[in-house]
Amino acid sequence: MDELVEIRRSRRARRWTLTVPWGEPVRLTVPSLMTDREIEAVLELHREWIARERGAQSPRLGLDPNRISEAEARRAARELVTMVLDEEAPALGVAYRRVQIRDQRTRWGSCSPSGTLSFNWRLVLAPFEVLDYVVVHELCHLQVPDHSRRFWQLVGRQRPRWREQRDWLREYGAELLAFSPAD
Ligand SMILES: [Zn+2]
Repeated sequence: MDELVEIRRSRRARRWTLTVPWGEPVRLTVPSLMTDREIEAVLELHREWIARERGAQSPRLGLDPNRISEAEARRAARELVTMVLDEEAPALGVAYRRVQIRDQRTRWGSCSPSGTLSFNWRLVLAPFEVLDYVVVHELCHLQVPDHSRRFWQLVGRQRPRWREQRDWLREYGAELLAFSPAD
């Protein structure tokens, strides 16, 4: 295999998990007692799958690490997020306590029970409708904390085309999450 594979032994892992993160080595987490021979077998068996996953990871967003600094992007993200919040919170009849713009590697937004909303600064590099959807999604969680039917009905009422934004994140999200500015 010409891919670099990072093997992690874990006492807590019950079975192995194989991931192919964007821009990072293949990662295989295995239970601590798994033998090298078993590990080789797993990798051999998934050789084609790994190649397919990698093949699907060619960059398509045209993100330029020199175009924007993280500080600039964070400022712009805060501005846009706040703009949407100020319009949508009254429309939904909810109040949030605080907004955080964060550097998250795995998620776009979150909503704490205390009313703090957090958003990934990389959203500012996505189409505006996508950022808008994530903000409205988190605001809706102030009314319905889970992802129940009632939650999605609420999101649908506020943003009838939310599925398009979710699909965009599914399609391009991994590339965007892996993006880091040069500075
Ligand atoms: Zn959610």
